[in-house]
Amino acid sequence: MVIFKKTQDISEFLAGKRSGGARIGFIPTMGALHAGHISLISQAREKGYLTVCSIFLNPTQFNNPEDLKKYPVSTDSDIQLLISSQCDVLFLPDVEEVYPGGPDNVVSYGFGELEEILEGAKRPGHFKGVGQVVGRLLEIVEPDTIFLGQKDYQQVMIITALCRLMLQDTNGFRPSDIRIERCPTVREADGLAMSSRNRRLTEPQRAVAGTIYQCLVSIQAKQYNSRFETVKRECGEILASKGFVTDYIAIADARDLRLLEEYDKNIPMVALIAASIGKIRLIDNLLMD
Ligand code: AMP
Repeated sequence: MVIFKKTQDISEFLAGKRSGGARIGFIPTMGALHAGHISLISQAREKGYLTVCSIFLNPTQFNNPEDLKKYPVSTDSDIQLLISSQCDVLFLPDVEEVYPGGPDNVVSYGFGELEEILEGAKRPGHFKGVGQVVGRLLEIVEPDTIFLGQKDYQQVMIITALCRLMLQDTNGFRPSDIRIERCPTVREADGLAMSSRNRRLTEPQRAVAGTIYQCLVSIQAKQYNSRFETVKRECGEILASKGFVTDYIAIADARDLRLLEEYDKNIPMVALIAASIGKIRLIDNLLMD
């Protein structure tokens, strides 16, 4: 695996690979890697891409400074994990490299309603930050395909919108041509979605953390014989009884995240939950079929 810290170096390296016929599969991350991240790398590799992973803890997407400060960092073991997963390239820039004129001088994109609901409502400015950093990383890496986890469902939709909004760059690279691969959520045995934040759970918190997934499964299972309002109330009570503070329990049109008041069997639906246990905020979702 080749590691780059400088924008110019990785750009030159990838330009060479591209002209040799390589297709670039990009996996942006914030580090503290786990099997969920590695599954994205494996999928890119299996599809024949030159795999480029980035690790960058983007300050502009944390609306809560405490959350940024406590975000787990494990760069040395991340590098070992990436090597053993046969990742080809790691981009490991510092903040100045990603935001040369400072984060305030980066182009921001507007995502309309999509950035105002669910995570956007609970974490104001979060998706502006995601748009900024992913926009910059796409300019640098110029990937053919970007591999994203379904775990962050709304983020996949934001990045899809971002690729459509970004203009062709001076090299002729067109972000609107980037393919988006949404990859399945990797879970622990009890259903808990793998997440870097899980490392911060205490043992008793970890013991109940699978409740979020159980609630998603019950929202899915009860779609044919219950009203969503009832299932939502039951899930809220179950989560509260295990010590969670719930931010939202929602169902939405899986194609555009339009929020639904009631189950609608005529459209593809996704159920989404965000809840905190202690100071750890967890999110998860499940496509309903
Ligand atoms: P993060 O480091 O949290 O920014 O995540 C980097 C990428 O990994 C994003 O596309 C996430 O959606 C994806 N990801 C995180 N957790 C999982 C998981 N449990 N399964 C699949 N992909 C994941």
